[in-house]
Amino acid sequence: YSYEWEQLQTKLPQWVEESRKQHVHGQVAAYIPELSKAPKEALGITIMDGRGHTITSGDCGCIFTLQSISKVFTLILALMDNGERLVFSKVGMEPTGDRFNSMLKLELVEPGIPFNPFINAGAIAVSSLIAGNSIEERYARILQFFRLLAHNDRMDFDQGVYESESATGHLNRSLAYFLMEKGILRGKVEDVLEVYFRHCAVNATCADLARMGLVLAYNGYDPIRNEQLIPRRYVQIAKTFMTTCGMYDASGHFAIQVGLPAKSGVSGGILTMVPGRYGIGVVGPALNRMGNSTTGVHLLETLSGELDWSMF
Ligand code: GLN
Repeated sequence: YSYEWEQLQTKLPQWVEESRKQHVHGQVAAYIPELSKAPKEALGITIMDGRGHTITSGDCGCIFTLQSISKVFTLILALMDNGERLVFSKVGMEPTGDRFNSMLKLELVEPGIPFNPFINAGAIAVSSLIAGNSIEERYARILQFFRLLAHNDRMDFDQGVYESESATGHLNRSLAYFLMEKGILRGKVEDVLEVYFRHCAVNATCADLARMGLVLAYNGYDPIRNEQLIPRRYVQIAKTFMTTCGMYDASGHFAIQVGLPAKSGVSGGILTMVPGRYGIGVVGPALNRMGNSTTGVHLLETLSGELDWSMF
């Protein structure tokens, strides 16, 4: 084992407990009522290397929903299904500096084209591009892809969270109708939303995120199975979006303080990686104003600072 790995093993528990204190500065997401049940003080992390060895610390047994983290993988699947040209005729490549559910800048890139695939409008457009003849088939393909990358056949969506979001997702519904009016969506609005709400509600653990992140860290190659699972180019695109838009309107701050590609979700999960080395999954349900995990971001800032992980 490397010196760094040993350092992680000895210091991680202490860093986690230090970062856990940051939960007092956050709130658990409540706009999806079911998410408000999450334990506010929880913080867990799993780090996985290219041989599949893991270091875990804190509440890594937590099960949470992927939420916006799923958008990284639906984007990749949409690229694999349709190619770059088609996908980027429906969604832009630019950060917004706005909230994830913003409607403000919907029209600015091109008429009706969402700025990027990680704001909700962009992610809903991307969901409509997943190949399949029915809602069931499209969702099944997405789930199969998540399971392949996480190497976990038990992954599936949480019915309670799905229903909770579907019943209260009026803003997402209005974004989707707007996109439909602009000719951006493929298929029926309610079908697209059902696929979107389901993939946001897929359950995961820190270990699942770390395993999925590992494949991105190795540019689409799974170093444990010895198999290329995603074309390198599409991982490059996904990691670039993670760097520029992955933490919403805090992406610039995160790039400076941590300097790693990452994607957060409102359940408090963060998927990140040290390129070429580790996949990392973090969960801490208390969120800051930007919708990112307060404890998770603090922990990643500590790790990157202590271990000099910034790519920049
Ligand atoms: N399902 C959530 C929503 O659409 C995802 C948002 C998030 O994780 N930031 O509102």
